[in-house]
Amino acid sequence: MANLPARADVVIVGAGIMGAASAWYLAKRGLSVVVCEKGRVAGEQSSRNWGFVRQQGRDPAEIPLMMESNRIWRTLERELNADLEWIAGGNFVVFQTEAERATFERWQGIAAGHGLQSRLVPAAGMQQIVPGSQLGTLGGIFTETDGQAEPTKVTHALQRAAEGRGATFLTDCAVFGVETSAGRVSGVETEHGPITAPTVVLACGGWTSRMLAHLGLRFPQVWIKGSVARTTSAPPIAEVATWAGVAFRQRRDGTMNIATRSVDHDLMVESLLFGRVFLDDYRKHGHDLRLRLGRLGLSTALGRVSRAALKRELTRYRTLDPTPNHRQLDMVLGRLKQAIPAAADVRIDRAWGGYIDMTPDMLPVIDRLDSPDGLVIASGFSGHGFGMGPIVGRLVSEIVADGQPSMDLSAFRFRRFHDGGDLTSDTVI
Ligand SMILES: Cc1cc2nc3c(=O)[nH]c(=O)nc-3n(C[C@H](O)[C@H](O)[C@H](O)COP(=O)(O)OP(=O)(O)OC[C@H]3O[C@@H](n4cnc5c(N)ncnc54)[C@H](O)[C@@H]3O)c2cc1C
Repeated sequence: MANLPARADVVIVGAGIMGAASAWYLAKRGLSVVVCEKGRVAGEQSSRNWGFVRQQGRDPAEIPLMMESNRIWRTLERELNADLEWIAGGNFVVFQTEAERATFERWQGIAAGHGLQSRLVPAAGMQQIVPGSQLGTLGGIFTETDGQAEPTKVTHALQRAAEGRGATFLTDCAVFGVETSAGRVSGVETEHGPITAPTVVLACGGWTSRMLAHLGLRFPQVWIKGSVARTTSAPPIAEVATWAGVAFRQRRDGTMNIATRSVDHDLMVESLLFGRVFLDDYRKHGHDLRLRLGRLGLSTALGRVSRAALKRELTRYRTLDPTPNHRQLDMVLGRLKQAIPAAADVRIDRAWGGYIDMTPDMLPVIDRLDSPDGLVIASGFSGHGFGMGPIVGRLVSEIVADGQPSMDLSAFRFRRFHDGGDLTSDTVI
């Protein structure tokens, strides 16, 4: 690769939303930044998600971060000079059971303690939020300040803005390992050669656990597969991103993203390695999970065995593109049509799958390690990192440039997996 820089202040591994947002904020601070991406920019989770940008239903530890992220989202199109299809239409959860209502009532009190206003909506009030809908009788909860954006646009806009400030993005450039010397980071080994850097940010989504395993660090992380469909255009329905047994949001062109919370887990070596720490998670969310033995699951086992095998995996799976669960999506379309009669004529135009990187407590790691010094991790966003992208990018830049973040990140420390920290998930959605 002719343009491989010999050195940089910061090398970021992974060009999803976390890598691109980190690059943007670091480049704005005047640091030289190189982003290495094994495939294409936003090829994995960051372009495959639903596009919900929500504070609603978050684990209490994430609420302050997400409130700050929400503030950034509101001016992000202007800041990046880009169309992100940002719609500040709120987030609405329609209760499916009484137990869910009770959980959200408790959550609403916690959110209010942080200054986040969400309101309970009686069944009779649901028409004002999603006109013409048939959403059941249990009511729901609405966070008016939430929104949505288009995943296929946001990471690229961050990339362009970062490049405008001098950052370099290298695609088809897998990082095979983080290099260390005398207990601190000295750079990375890429498939095209070495780059020297005192700071490396691992923003490599589901691959982070494997990258850390080769440094002797244990990061419990498994992949689960979500499926999403885009429908043909419907008449204007609502601007609110909604969960009502089916997740849907309508884009500016009338097409809709639809999905369900049910996910598939293709069994792989991590399922066994980390099975015990995921038990609580499984007990809570097991009804939404189906286990399968996938081809990728078997082959990724190799990636943990040796660096040579990891290299093969990183270049073989440039961009993970799992087959969506079409049966599930047909069922989702049926549910959408029941809930929204105005969408009766829509069809599925395209569908895709995406692997989500899960941690046992469904919280990410946003942390700088002591050993090796100079290693920063921003990973494990457990199916809700798109909305957090902007604030995570800013916090990573603070960790690197100021030596400490402006917000309390103790709940997101890496050591919680090793110091007996509570790994119970408090997320409501
Ligand atoms: C189906 C689905 C629905 C979702 N819905 C929502 C939602 O509505 N709202 C929300 O907030 N979040 C949602 N999420 C979650 C959100 O998409 C993710 O949390 C977020 O995109 C994670 O971003 P990331 O940058 O950490 O990871 P990724 O986007 O996965 O990026 C990581 C990148 O690192 C690269 N990489 C990995 N290893 C290496 C290496 N060794 N060398 C070079 N490059 C490497 C990968 O190729 C990849 O491009 C959803 C996710 C999915 C899959």
